[in-house]
Amino acid sequence: GYVFDYCIEWLTGTGPGNDANRVWRELGALDGKTIANFEMFNTVVDEHGRSVTFYNDPGRLERHLLEISPADARPIRAFCRDLRRFTDTNLYPFLTPPPLQTPRERLATLRAVLPDFVLFWRTAATRMERFAGRFQDPLLRRAFPFIFFQDHEVFPLLPYLFNMASAHHRNAGFPQGGSLGLARSVEERYTSLGGRIDYRARVARILVEDDRAVGVELRGGERHYADHVVSACDGYTTIHGLLDGRYSSPRVDTLFQEMMNRPELVYPGVVSAFVGLDGEFAATERHSTTYLLSDEDAAALPGVLQKSLVVQLRSHYSDGFAPPGKSVVHCTYFSDYAYWKQLRLTDRKAYWARKQEVADFVRVFLERHHPGITAAIEVVDVASPATIERYTGVRGGSILGWKSFTEADDVITGLINKDR
Ligand SMILES: Cc1cc2nc3c(=O)[nH]c(=O)nc-3n(C[C@H](O)[C@H](O)[C@H](O)COP(=O)(O)OP(=O)(O)OC[C@H]3O[C@@H](n4cnc5c(N)ncnc54)[C@H](O)[C@@H]3O)c2cc1C
Repeated sequence: GYVFDYCIEWLTGTGPGNDANRVWRELGALDGKTIANFEMFNTVVDEHGRSVTFYNDPGRLERHLLEISPADARPIRAFCRDLRRFTDTNLYPFLTPPPLQTPRERLATLRAVLPDFVLFWRTAATRMERFAGRFQDPLLRRAFPFIFFQDHEVFPLLPYLFNMASAHHRNAGFPQGGSLGLARSVEERYTSLGGRIDYRARVARILVEDDRAVGVELRGGERHYADHVVSACDGYTTIHGLLDGRYSSPRVDTLFQEMMNRPELVYPGVVSAFVGLDGEFAATERHSTTYLLSDEDAAALPGVLQKSLVVQLRSHYSDGFAPPGKSVVHCTYFSDYAYWKQLRLTDRKAYWARKQEVADFVRVFLERHHPGITAAIEVVDVASPATIERYTGVRGGSILGWKSFTEADDVITGLINKDR
């Protein structure tokens, strides 16, 4: 009766009156759903039990941070001043991505952005890492990069401020049913319009005639012909798998031959441990916490990349994830795909043993923070980046593909803008 759904932490466009919301409405994605909105993005707790909560309300955040470290008044006030300005701006220019806008649309965007151009430019040019280095308090210095649960490393301040401001406006909530519920709603809308979906139908290759995609061939050899073929899966799989690498271009080669092997440009995978347990957490328990780990804890967690563990009470996000009276907890961390893949290929028993170590660690860790919880645990289910690749086809089990605000972004913009 448990649903272990690891996707969606927040969904932009859950509030009314913006382009992103229009997209979700047209797709039927939010039909009949309630939306959970949280007052804070995340709490970060260090090894000594000190904690900081990233509230979305700039005033509340400022008071909280000043209580933790009055000596850091300058960077605290600077961050909260910027958050206040993002909150006032409340801009979501999403419907047409900038590279696809007509000159007229571009002018309209420019007009909307112009009053806050300096704010956007400055916060896009300031790396979070560098900003966090200004804090004297060791917890704040370490915690700020973990506002989005794990450290996104290359991110500047802008996405943090933008998403916290969105959440404050109740436009970055959690839809009832999570990603499965959202997908089911889109499916329902599609089939109600006459669409058909075939599950368990992996495409082996795209059929091409005279340099035109005319259909697909499934793994079992079954063929389907079509006027248009749209691949919605991983880019590398599409170009180098389904099309045999035949329809490449210099920019595509740069992405999939050079950049893809640079970890600073591509998101890593995650280890994901779901815990189903008998009993409920108090409504006041925070929904999301990142624990910064001691060296000893980090050493016990296989393949951990950032010495941190995210613990989320997923049954606080939506009903339906656990049977009545029970709860779902998700424990997750960024992890190295190559480590897990190699282990799975060469020594399946060792691979299973490492997954068991993750499960054991999670039990002990949760017990430390919620004494007595072990007896209530009914199931622990661990997925590695290799599991995720196996199920989704996403190369390297990467959670989000290319990292934003990197060189890869520039190449992709060129691919859309110039190569069309
Ligand atoms: C842990 C995690 C947390 C996330 N949190 C958020 C969040 O909070 N908010 C947010 O907005 N986004 C979040 N994302 C990102 C979001 O999930 C993705 O951006 C989104 O799912 C991408 O959608 P897509 O349709 O492009 O690709 P996918 O969702 O990857 O869909 C591709 C589909 O193609 C199928 N496929 C692959 N190969 C083949 C083949 N050969 N033949 C047939 N089918 C194939 C796959 O099975 C899959 O169903 C998160 C992602 C992860 C992993």
